[in-house]
Amino acid sequence: MTRCPRRCCGAAAQTVYRLRRFDVCRCESCAAMFRHPLPEQAELEGYYADPAYLESAYFADSGQGPAAAGPEVGIYLESLAWLDGNLVSVSAGERKLLDVGCGNGQFLALAEQHRWKCEGIELSHELCERARSLCVAELHRGDFLDVDLPAASYDVVTMWDLLEHVLDPDLVLARARELLRPGGCLVVFTINSESLFNWLGDISYRATGGRLTTAVELLYDARHNWYLTPSTLDRLLKQAGLRAVDRCQHRAYLGRWLSEPAPVWVKVAGNLVDLASMAASQCYRQLVYCRAV
Ligand SMILES: [Zn+2]
Repeated sequence: MTRCPRRCCGAAAQTVYRLRRFDVCRCESCAAMFRHPLPEQAELEGYYADPAYLESAYFADSGQGPAAAGPEVGIYLESLAWLDGNLVSVSAGERKLLDVGCGNGQFLALAEQHRWKCEGIELSHELCERARSLCVAELHRGDFLDVDLPAASYDVVTMWDLLEHVLDPDLVLARARELLRPGGCLVVFTINSESLFNWLGDISYRATGGRLTTAVELLYDARHNWYLTPSTLDRLLKQAGLRAVDRCQHRAYLGRWLSEPAPVWVKVAGNLVDLASMAASQCYRQLVYCRAV
């Protein structure tokens, strides 16, 4: 391993994977992993205007309203039930929810059915338009850190498949904390970099001296900038004045968001690993409910 020139939380970082387009580094202090170099703003915005991304199964079959049966719908409904059961002090007439990186508005449409007054933020023009057709929420097109929103005014802030995509997860979590009302809740759904996928990808890379990169190229997508374990996420939450109060894991559902063309054997093996990851409690995605400290 070699030194990575970028630092994470003040400590040095090591380059752990050398991929075609970038390296993946790990902070020696907190073990967070990150893409190096991180993309420039223009590159980052380009990813979310790419037709291949916008037409991926993740958006294609989840943009048909709450009746659509994509796996995210079940996860969203589970979290809405959790919020109903755990935010009982929130008044029924004033339940405000902000979904950051709302995509095509699938979650917002479900939240509206559960009596939440919703707002959404989305970087992609195209996805913002799709969300407008799916829900009545007030939508802000832009970067979360640039959108002018009133502090301490939301009961819930949600981040579905967002935190791994941002450049500064610490700033994003701190901003979410500012926006929460006292007693409010932040819901974070992001990659778990301690998953069985990551473990097997690491073995395949190391066992071949870095020559077999197929698995890690797929695991470390160009759109993902940060990879957090449950404990590295907890560190960032604590730093932002938040505390995890409940958590669970979910499968990757690989074929739905795999944006790079992959050989058939990789897809078959990936789905088997996805099922095994549940048995091993080392799933690819982590869901954390947080309260302000
Ligand atoms: Zn660090």
